[in-house]
Amino acid sequence: MRLLTADCIYPVSTPPLKYGLLLIDDDGTILDVLHDNHNVSVDLKPEYHHGLICPGFINAHCHLELSFLKGKIARGKGLANFIQSLIPARHASEAEILKAANDADAEMHANGIVMVGDISNNNSSIEIKKASRIHYHSFIEIYDLNPEKAFESFDKGKLLLNEFAANGLSASMTPHASYSVSAKLLKLIGDFAYENDSVLSIHNQETAGENEMFTEGSGTFVEELNKISGAYGNWKASGFRSLASVFVHLPKCNRIEFVHNTFSSIEDVRWAHLYNLFVWWCMCPNANLYIEQRLPDLDMFVNEVAKICVGTDSYASNSSLSILDELKSIQERHKKISTQELIKWATLNGAEFFGLQKKFGSFEKGKKPGINLITNVDSYMQVLSISSDVIPLV
Ligand SMILES: [Zn+2]
Repeated sequence: MRLLTADCIYPVSTPPLKYGLLLIDDDGTILDVLHDNHNVSVDLKPEYHHGLICPGFINAHCHLELSFLKGKIARGKGLANFIQSLIPARHASEAEILKAANDADAEMHANGIVMVGDISNNNSSIEIKKASRIHYHSFIEIYDLNPEKAFESFDKGKLLLNEFAANGLSASMTPHASYSVSAKLLKLIGDFAYENDSVLSIHNQETAGENEMFTEGSGTFVEELNKISGAYGNWKASGFRSLASVFVHLPKCNRIEFVHNTFSSIEDVRWAHLYNLFVWWCMCPNANLYIEQRLPDLDMFVNEVAKICVGTDSYASNSSLSILDELKSIQERHKKISTQELIKWATLNGAEFFGLQKKFGSFEKGKKPGINLITNVDSYMQVLSISSDVIPLV
């Protein structure tokens, strides 16, 4: 047993406790959360830590298998350029791909991440996930714009899904993005998710041109996509923005996370909340800054009481796989968003999205959520600083 204390304990499910205490079992299971040491039932000297203590982080969006792309794609050139750059950059040996993914898994663990929602296009990450101390849910990502190939793509995805399941890994099928999946394939994925009550994820409104191609049928983004693949020559606008255009083909009662949301409007958010009560918005601020050099309208999301979770995206568009680095980027630009709120996004909200709130996300008796010490926090205002760091305590 250990008794931990710090300048502030963030249980997340209840308000922060100044100089609170956490009684834990040797394996990290929470035995008690205490306001002060008057009620401590065990004869243990508290371990004091300078900083704040919060539950382990949930990385709601990552691509482990793209870790070998670290530093290979130029910053700030926009989404079309990013997609184009991925094609030649993807040539790498299997050993290089596996080593980078393995290192990324170890780095995330060292950065206090206990659970990851990870996009998988192939089986290369299976062995790493099986051996990892991190709990993974893999999104088997499918894309194909050609409706005639919808069944073929869907069946390929199902084979990969079965391979993950046969290895005892949590996984579900999911579409890539609004602009890369036909309505027919979306419907197949959506029906399958409905039948299996599984979680969905989709890259959403990452660039302005994504909305333009759906409302107007034109714009530089669709032109660039056509140059890359040649598949957009007969592109037809739906007349609606991209979010509504794809969401109508997906079920209304499955948990879904929209990832990025850099160009989502208040109308998109309200429409999504009316269509489906189980919508989460996954923010990957450092990837947005890397690719499009802007952030989503976070104040609007907060005002709309949106359920926000946080992801790192992949090393193709980030210089670290650290949820704390994402929170620091947000707070640097949105000083009004409190550390308490940010920690909730990075812990309990993600855990609830993945249906893992009985284990992860908050300090409550019986949970084993991971325990992070965040250092270099302004102890009076509880604000993160550039030099804030995370140290897993279990
Ligand atoms: Zn992504």
